[in-house]
Amino acid sequence: MASTQPILSATGLTMEFRGFVAVKNVTLSVDEGTIHALIGPNGAGKTTVFNLLTKFLTPTRGQIVYRGADITAMKPAEVARLGLVRSFQISAVFPHLTVLDNVRIALQRPSNLATQFWRPLSALSGLDDRAMELIEAVGLRAYAHLPAVELSYGRKRALEIATTLALDPAMLLLDEPMAGMGHEDIGRISDLIRRIAQNRTVLMVEHNLNVVSDLCDRVTVLARGEILADGSYDAVSADPRVREAYMGT
Ligand code: ADP
Repeated sequence: MASTQPILSATGLTMEFRGFVAVKNVTLSVDEGTIHALIGPNGAGKTTVFNLLTKFLTPTRGQIVYRGADITAMKPAEVARLGLVRSFQISAVFPHLTVLDNVRIALQRPSNLATQFWRPLSALSGLDDRAMELIEAVGLRAYAHLPAVELSYGRKRALEIATTLALDPAMLLLDEPMAGMGHEDIGRISDLIRRIAQNRTVLMVEHNLNVVSDLCDRVTVLARGEILADGSYDAVSADPRVREAYMGT
């Protein structure tokens, strides 16, 4: 059930790269328990906004508040420890290890990859119950003992999401989780994101508008670094400025 409390809010975010303004005065909020999409044409600034929100970039101006705490000056590992996690930052899947071993490793590593200490796999057997829970949650139970390299593309993405969930994030940022997927995998990952959002918040960049319309409670549209529209999919897709900038109609 979606509530209306913002879990994350950004105010007046601006990002300049050597004089080029990639993100201009962006103010957005993501409500707790929702699936929120960030959409826009190529070059709109979506990746830059993701990088700002997860602190891979520090904004030239503006403020970011997550669960009441000002995170504007924090490092990615610090915000990850607070439960704000971006999928790729910990999604490295080891192709020749099994699905189970990949998740066991993810469960024992600290969010700060730079300071991690890798324990031998034999020391990780105590994590099996939790690892299997996560594997089950992403629909990979039948594949637990298969090397990751043998998974289909969509199932590999599901495994990446399982390794991300190992950090127990309250809010997950997914960068194009359906990119390059066929119909069946899209359905599978959509179901997974719905299940994740039962007790977490999801912010995703997604190009597939059918997915956005189907899955997302709220949509923020960026174009040329600025917010063009924000609201339900139906509302933003009916906005003539969005149609012109994004859909080319
Ligand atoms: P999107 O993800 O919506 O395609 P990006 O956030 O990747 O857009 O890029 C927005 C704009 O900022 C683009 O014009 C891009 O070239 C520029 N940009 C992104 N990162 C950098 C950077 N590190 N240095 C200079 N320009 C950048």
